Amino acid sequence: MASSSESGVYARTLDCVHCGLCLPACPTHRVLGVEADSPRGRIYLMRALEEGRVEDADAIRPFLDRCLDCRACETACPSGVKYGEILETVRADLEEEKPQRGFTAWLTRTLLWQVVARQRRLRLLFWFMRLAEFLGLRRLGVLLRLVPKAVDEIAPAVPTNPQRRPLRTGLHEPPPGVKRRGIRVALFTGCVMEQMFGDVNRATLRLLLENGFDVDVPAEQGCCGALLVHAGQRQQARELAASNIEAFRNADVVINNSAGCGAAMKEYGHLLTGDASAAGAKFAGKCRDVSEFLAAEGLTATPAECRQTAVYDDPCHLCHGQGVRSQPRELLAAIPGLRLVEHDRPEDCCGSAGIYNLLHSDLAGKIGARKIEAIQAANPDLIVTGNPGCMMQLDSHRRRTGHSAQVRHLVELLLPPE
Ligand code: SF4
Ligand code: SF4
Repeated sequence: MASSSESGVYARTLDCVHCGLCLPACPTHRVLGVEADSPRGRIYLMRALEEGRVEDADAIRPFLDRCLDCRACETACPSGVKYGEILETVRADLEEEKPQRGFTAWLTRTLLWQVVARQRRLRLLFWFMRLAEFLGLRRLGVLLRLVPKAVDEIAPAVPTNPQRRPLRTGLHEPPPGVKRRGIRVALFTGCVMEQMFGDVNRATLRLLLENGFDVDVPAEQGCCGALLVHAGQRQQARELAASNIEAFRNADVVINNSAGCGAAMKEYGHLLTGDASAAGAKFAGKCRDVSEFLAAEGLTATPAECRQTAVYDDPCHLCHGQGVRSQPRELLAAIPGLRLVEHDRPEDCCGSAGIYNLLHSDLAGKIGARKIEAIQAANPDLIVTGNPGCMMQLDSHRRRTGHSAQVRHLVELLLPPE
């Protein structure tokens, strides 16, 4: 595989010294107990592929496909192996040289590029989903086996209070009476976040304004490309990255409230090549998760009182992907009345991983069940996290087990009283 070798991925596979310290951290290895479904095993397979020792790439593909790209192995690895970069490069090279065949692969490619990456089409899709929900067609589709059970279980009921209008673009200023800090930030609104959790975007905007920041919402922004990168669709992801870099060209700070999108945008320097790589790296340097930014700047607006018990569950792409762990907890500690407790597996993947829970529903279900079991042991009223995919997956497992806790995004709890 020439292109991977040129990108240095082969040299990175050599960083692995086969110590196996990453194995206990790997969700697929924990469930399946197979070496080839562990980080060490997958690195070995990718190295063999690079060395030309794999005759048929399709033989190793299932092991690479079953990886959630959660990066827990990177956190556990004492040798600093850049597992995510290796995996994403090899997946992309395989897709370019020998695209996956079959209906599911075609549908995934089409949905990600023709729908998810195009805001108007995505809005239309969600409009149809809301209509289907309203008319009871989802339930009928499940009964007639037209809607896969996995989709029915994982997709929560489409929001009954959808945001009917897109978030107003352009510059927003703090309300009268709020002391302005003289810092202007730009808000990334995402694709799934805006459609499924539009309230979270509006809460993020209000939170920033109430804390004295001027907030720009660039009109030309679009999908970050994370799902395409994970699916090996590197060229399309590069187009989206270039478009976002242009859309946020005037921003000093780009605020993200979706951990998966934030991690992908912080890696634009690696994704883009040639001259564009420097622009990607510069853009990445401006990106901040909303918790990272607010913890550094400090809250000036006291959050509303909340006399409940909460657990914080780390999204993989925030803790492993961006190294953001303490900041959300520091912010939660500032909420009057809130009791924050830890559960046993905050950094384990919940099994969401973009659309992994749709493509590998059995395995994702087992991974998610383990997570919700740990959360339930802490018996919280609130499960707080920072990524739309995790919110859906955690809520799906919460509903399956009948636990009454509410799943909330961090920013919703940080709002001051209206
Ligand atoms: S990224 Fe996650 S699922 Fe993949 S090998 Fe690493 S720990 Fe395992
Ligand atoms: S990836 Fe790191 S922790 Fe895992 S086997 Fe290789 S060197 Fe050891």
